[in-house]
Amino acid sequence: MSRPVAPAPQRFYVETLGCPKNQVDSDKLIGTLIADGMVGTDRIDEADLVVVNTCAFIDEARRESIDTVLTLDEQRRDGTRLVVTGCMAERYGAELTEALPEVDQVAGFGVPIGGRQRRDLIPVTALTTDDVPELDLLNLPRPRSAVPWAYVKIAEGCDRSCGFCAIPSFRGPQRSRDVVSILGEVDQLEVREVVLVAQDLASYGKDRPDELGAGSIVPLVRAVAERVDRVRLLYLYPSDLSDELIDAVCDSGVPYFDLSLQHVSKPLLRRMRRWGDGDRFSRRIADIRSREPGAAFRSNFIVGYPGETDDDHDQLVRFVEEAQLDWCGFFSYSAEDGTFAAGLDGAVDPALVHERLAELRELQDAITADRRDELIGATVEVLVDEVGVGRTHREAPEIDGIVHVAADLAPGSFAAVEVVDALGPDLVAAGGDPVGEDDR
Ligand code: SF4
Repeated sequence: MSRPVAPAPQRFYVETLGCPKNQVDSDKLIGTLIADGMVGTDRIDEADLVVVNTCAFIDEARRESIDTVLTLDEQRRDGTRLVVTGCMAERYGAELTEALPEVDQVAGFGVPIGGRQRRDLIPVTALTTDDVPELDLLNLPRPRSAVPWAYVKIAEGCDRSCGFCAIPSFRGPQRSRDVVSILGEVDQLEVREVVLVAQDLASYGKDRPDELGAGSIVPLVRAVAERVDRVRLLYLYPSDLSDELIDAVCDSGVPYFDLSLQHVSKPLLRRMRRWGDGDRFSRRIADIRSREPGAAFRSNFIVGYPGETDDDHDQLVRFVEEAQLDWCGFFSYSAEDGTFAAGLDGAVDPALVHERLAELRELQDAITADRRDELIGATVEVLVDEVGVGRTHREAPEIDGIVHVAADLAPGSFAAVEVVDALGPDLVAAGGDPVGEDDR
């Protein structure tokens, strides 16, 4: 009598949109599906379950999310479950379910996907630091990384109220993870570089004054730096860039500062309900450069925020010219329901926004290219991410340029290479002497 054949495991396909924090959520979701006995596939037509992890930050991102869902719906096999999760599912739950009848499940944060049974849930905006959702992605384990770097999310949510931002309304108040849980994940990933992410990274621990407290990001960076070759930080709110944090970042060997500035005009920043101004930002950047001349900087700016004047714009242009940052992103203001800014007067004409964006992007592209050209002839240390592709401390994965390196350098290794050319944001390097643990 023939033995019963075990049914083939169900297969899943996960599409991730949006920011690195969403990427971490997808990794953890994949971990739960694998724990449920499913296997991944990168072919839609083979999948029994298709999950779209959406982004809802601004209009453009929402449109991309909907387009992706509809495209995958067309590509999926009959009987394949289509699940929409992530920020759009959390922010527009019932509306989305109604608007997308083709979708089998709209699963907000904390809602199990795949085979697991769901129970009554707490809406994420009602969460406090003590509440943990049923499927607490934040603290779930994740599979070993397939590349030599990984994002690690150290907190969920945000306690700030920037005028243009709806994230706190659907990601909830800040919820910092335990240090033990973070370090455990770092060890589990087995990577050479860890990129720490959160909505408001430098505020890590402020929401848990008894166990962690303000400034906890500093010992955390130092603890992670002891475990991996490189630790990089994204999303630093400028008011929390303390001397201790700057020292910890520089001591880690990755003097890379991703400063979330958004604008430099003082009156406009106040209208955005944000701290700081161009002079203070310039002084902080100069401080860092005096401490670490090779430091690299990234920032993002919003153009066309309600009430933005010609003078505000001119201030931003002057700042970009003088600050000479390595990388900048410029985004047009998007009116978000429920935000403070949605109720403001002083809307900026879209054609003018377009003009200002073009001017800033052109200016920054030239600055970035010049800063890359300055590296020609230098010997730099790269982490080889994949065959032919590396990054120095100046490039964050996926958002900055890369270094084209010799194909014989092993992925996951460090090498000293000579920069022989620059192609816009990317560098071209030759040679490559492996850099051993002790030489770093
Ligand atoms: S810091 Fe401001 S922009 Fe960033 S997530 Fe929080 S509210 Fe939004």
